[in-house]
Amino acid sequence: MENLIFEKSVKGRKGYTLPPLDVPKHNPIPNQFVRKVDADLPEVPETDVSRHYIRLSNLNHCIEKGFYPLGSCTMKYNPKVNEVTASLPGFTGIHPHTPAEYEQGALEVMYELGESLKEITGLPGVTLQPSAGAQGELAGVLCFRAYFKDKGETQRTKMLIPNSAHGTNPATAVTAGFQTVNVKCKHCGGLDIDDLKSKLGDDIAGIMITNPSTVGIFESNIIEIADLIHSCGGLMYMDGANLNALLGITTASKMKFDCVHINLHKTMSTPHGGGGPGSGPICVSEKLLPYLPAPQIIKDGTKYKLVDKNTNTKSIGRIHSHFGNFGVFVRALTYIRMYGAEGMKKISENAIINANYIQARLKGHYTLPYDVFCMHECLFTAETQMKHGVKAVNIAKRILDYGMHAPTINFPLVVTEALLIEPTETEKLEDLDAFCDVMIKIAEETKNTPDLVLNAPFTTPVKRLDDALAVRQPNLKWSN
Ligand SMILES: *Cc1c(COP(=O)(O)O)cnc(C)c1O
Repeated sequence: MENLIFEKSVKGRKGYTLPPLDVPKHNPIPNQFVRKVDADLPEVPETDVSRHYIRLSNLNHCIEKGFYPLGSCTMKYNPKVNEVTASLPGFTGIHPHTPAEYEQGALEVMYELGESLKEITGLPGVTLQPSAGAQGELAGVLCFRAYFKDKGETQRTKMLIPNSAHGTNPATAVTAGFQTVNVKCKHCGGLDIDDLKSKLGDDIAGIMITNPSTVGIFESNIIEIADLIHSCGGLMYMDGANLNALLGITTASKMKFDCVHINLHKTMSTPHGGGGPGSGPICVSEKLLPYLPAPQIIKDGTKYKLVDKNTNTKSIGRIHSHFGNFGVFVRALTYIRMYGAEGMKKISENAIINANYIQARLKGHYTLPYDVFCMHECLFTAETQMKHGVKAVNIAKRILDYGMHAPTINFPLVVTEALLIEPTETEKLEDLDAFCDVMIKIAEETKNTPDLVLNAPFTTPVKRLDDALAVRQPNLKWSN
């Protein structure tokens, strides 16, 4: 193992040069917050800093290095032209407190992006503020709450959550003060309508549906579900993080949803491995327009203006400081403009074909719990391999030895030992085949040489960790 950057530190070494101070010294930080002892930072020259981080980044796997089929995460290749536009000095140099009249260009980008998202979802209202999918969910469900409060229907305290929902959905409902009620799914992966009917009543605020669901299947009874929810006075929430499967094919509005969040960092291409900046705008139906977060950006003639909470008093207020993650907006708008409406549809069609290709090739080698056409991702389980003592996690680790990223494992929870594979539209046939060959080879290894799979990985910088020890005695912090 190489040294930590702290261990390379030599007292007095510097990685920066500052010009001499030519203004009076001024410290605006109140004294009680001023550091009394220097931070224990490594003292290294710039070359060491640069080499250290570049080397670490090379050890990491990324979409530029290889296949990255992490289900539910849409790890597509992000066009580099996005970085060119997001780096334009007019955008990077702008201060969030700049008055609206001097930031017309940035407001135009946000306004135009909002208009595009409205068109993509078919819904009339939008906010770009939420900085992740989960935060979009919270903004949306808080709008639900404000809507019912306004109507005097505060008895609506329950949120329906199907088994096939993403984990953030129940978490969001609870954070927003709702009680979750589970709805069962059928063998085909779709929602159990009879179970849904038995749970409807005037205490229901709505339902949160991930569509396509976390098992990668389109909820084909969606109109019937929407009519049932609406006729009992509830609202429809769509987790649209899987929008990569629906672009230009259908809209949240056609499916009668009242609110949808879009993960710009997934569908609209921003690098997001390792927790990079995210963006989870929501679009809403007519009913929810008054409650959208403030400020809203409006176009008045040729000028862009901000409407704050003082004007729109029903708004749930801010969900994020300033406007959200602006760089992600620029990338998303570039991407949408570059592909256009026809191109958007192709994205989803290719994502769906790629996932179905993998599903067809791996069928028979791994257990396919729902044997139907899938959308942008396919779900297998390691049930067949379990007979040889090999679990999903072992398969995932063995894939690393072949220079690829593993699929999502043990999620969704509706099946045991899940392997959720999302190739995305940006992979060509040869790359899909290379992945399938690896998966089939690992299925063979599981039968013939299970130890190889159980002890993998062998080629990665960090080998198999002792999970139990890592939990009980985590060693996360450097100390000298
Ligand atoms: C990624 C994802 C989320 C959460 O999005 P974040 O940006 O990570 O908060 C929610 N639902 C689904 C289906 C997702 O794939």
